[in-house]
Amino acid sequence: MKGLVKYQLGDGFMELRDVPEPKPGAGQVKIEVANTGICGSDLHILHSDIAIPVRPPVITGHEFSGTIAEVGEGVEGWKVGDRVVSETAFSYCGVCVHCREGYYNLCNERRTLGYWYDGAFAPYTIVPAARLHALPSELSFLEGALMEPLACVTHATMELTRIEPRDWVLVSGPGAVGLATLQVAKAHNARVMVAGTDVDAERMKKAEALGADLVVNVQKENILDIIKDVTGGVGVDVALECSGSARALETAILGVRKRGQLTQIGLYGKPITVDFERICYKEIKVTGSLGSRWLSWENALYLTKAGKVKLEPLVSDVFPLSDWEKAFGMFERKEGMKIVFDPKK
Ligand SMILES: [Zn+2]
Ligand SMILES: [Zn+2]
Repeated sequence: MKGLVKYQLGDGFMELRDVPEPKPGAGQVKIEVANTGICGSDLHILHSDIAIPVRPPVITGHEFSGTIAEVGEGVEGWKVGDRVVSETAFSYCGVCVHCREGYYNLCNERRTLGYWYDGAFAPYTIVPAARLHALPSELSFLEGALMEPLACVTHATMELTRIEPRDWVLVSGPGAVGLATLQVAKAHNARVMVAGTDVDAERMKKAEALGADLVVNVQKENILDIIKDVTGGVGVDVALECSGSARALETAILGVRKRGQLTQIGLYGKPITVDFERICYKEIKVTGSLGSRWLSWENALYLTKAGKVKLEPLVSDVFPLSDWEKAFGMFERKEGMKIVFDPKK
């Protein structure tokens, strides 16, 4: 079979290669991959500028859906033909304080599918059965492929942030993650303002279609004035920073109310400068967020099945794996939205 392999650390060193079809070991299943999305971190693997451990040569890709094709020894509760999605934490230690508290997303020994273990930019992949979640029959494989980014969003917005009905929520960065974040906030009956720039015109239209109460182009309008206006001078209750831009973080710090919450979802990729003292003056509660865990996936699947979050509108293109260079290039230039592969094509 053909798999998209990162074969050496350093900038580049990725190619579509003939690789052997994998066999599931004990406790593992082999999955026929239906769809796999390109994640921002896949670009970082391509360029080797990511802090998460990568072990080349490795088949990349971790946001996927598919059907069980073979069940390894000792696997119970799953059978050939089951439609599934899978968490990406292929292994973790299980005994550190984070694992024991159920936060295995923070385990130092966590090794990730598509980074350390062969991933899903290939027609078949292997995962531990313990990481599987059933993909309900109501949901498409395309929606399934977006369950991983949605699980990261539910982790950030439902487990690490408390959104109340009537809250004003600022979502900065209307990419696929931002538009998923918007919908989770709307599912909590909040009022949501989505902030973007000139390049986001199409995405802002999507944001409106997906329920944003207000969209603001920060290059054309003064977002802090607008926040003052709509919140009676108080500020937004919650800021969910999905863009990874220092400017957006500054706006979030200035625009959030005293005693409000600020949750960081986007990655900056470098140290940035912000006026952190304002966190003190305003008693802002700031939290980071990293990846997802079992509960995040159950929440993501529930919200999608209930129709509260729509994932297919976030997909702009579906390509065969042979078009990977074109697809990665488009993603890097921020063309389209979520780009997904169909590895069987
Ligand atoms: Zn990802
Ligand atoms: Zn651990």
